[in-house]
Amino acid sequence: MSTFGNGGREARFWTTEGDRVKCELCPHFCKIADGKAGICRVRKNEGGKLYTLIYGKASSITPDPIEKKPLFHFHPGTHSLSFGTVGCNYSCPFCQNYSISQSKPEDVHLKKVDPEDVVPLVEKNRCEGVSWTYNEPSIWHEFTYDCSKLVKEAGYYTSYVTNGYINEEPLREIAPYLDAMNIDLKSMDDGFYKRLCKARVQPVLDTLVLAEELGIHIEITNLVIPGENDTKEGFEKMTKWIVESLGDDVPLHFSRFHPDYQMIDHPRTPLKTLGTAYQIAKDAGLKYVYVGNVPSNERENTMCPNCGNMVIERWGFSISKNDLDGKRCKNCGETVDVVL
Ligand code: SF4
Repeated sequence: MSTFGNGGREARFWTTEGDRVKCELCPHFCKIADGKAGICRVRKNEGGKLYTLIYGKASSITPDPIEKKPLFHFHPGTHSLSFGTVGCNYSCPFCQNYSISQSKPEDVHLKKVDPEDVVPLVEKNRCEGVSWTYNEPSIWHEFTYDCSKLVKEAGYYTSYVTNGYINEEPLREIAPYLDAMNIDLKSMDDGFYKRLCKARVQPVLDTLVLAEELGIHIEITNLVIPGENDTKEGFEKMTKWIVESLGDDVPLHFSRFHPDYQMIDHPRTPLKTLGTAYQIAKDAGLKYVYVGNVPSNERENTMCPNCGNMVIERWGFSISKNDLDGKRCKNCGETVDVVL
């Protein structure tokens, strides 16, 4: 890979179309004129070549409980060293991390980090793995790929917290080095995605199916926004699709909205709405359904799908009780779907 003046590095997944470069990393397929960047702000055409502007540049590096991602069925009780940078291929007006997701690389102080730095940092922070998170990690592909390979080779786990807006080829490329993904499924309504995220729903559904086929552990987060994606019919459609397309053992997290960024006119999600969503998901047959962003609620605990025993009790982002023997419920011996 070559570099150019402002510290960028030649990107992968692009072709030339006329006098533009066409980025093929995500379903936007931006056609970018010379001197311009794509929708995500971090991939730029410079003299007819596409460069990533964020290789080795992190906005934050923090050890987090894996429960915070949220990943509840993946190495519970461990910490992951969590890396974010800037940029996003969505433009959601409700983004809770908009100060980095909607910024350009030059607008934020970014720390330099080399792939070879990552494993020593994981060890120094006593983490069991790495999470690529805070902003959209798939647009950081070249760096997360190089680092994840090294992290896996050193015996640690890797995970993405992602909107799922990535094309098949790059997802297949990183899959051998990616253990888990928490994927946002914001709605089943394409109109919601077009209007609020400036994206489409089908590529997200395709990513969910492909990630599971590739053997990546997946969990789904649905941020429930009052008046936008909170109808019973919407919850029914989503949970039915999950059961039929991915299976009944995929953990689903309904997350409470709070007013932020350009959506401060909407109220917090009523607890009643979250309760309705939870019940619809359970009625659809999903075994593991959670309600998040509501401190210390009982729907953050994992129940045995056979006998109902509370096998993992959570308090905030920590585990206050573990009633599993390996993956088995100590009460009835049922195997609980969890990656250890
Ligand atoms: S990754 Fe960025 S530049 Fe590439 S297609 Fe997506 S939004 Fe456009």
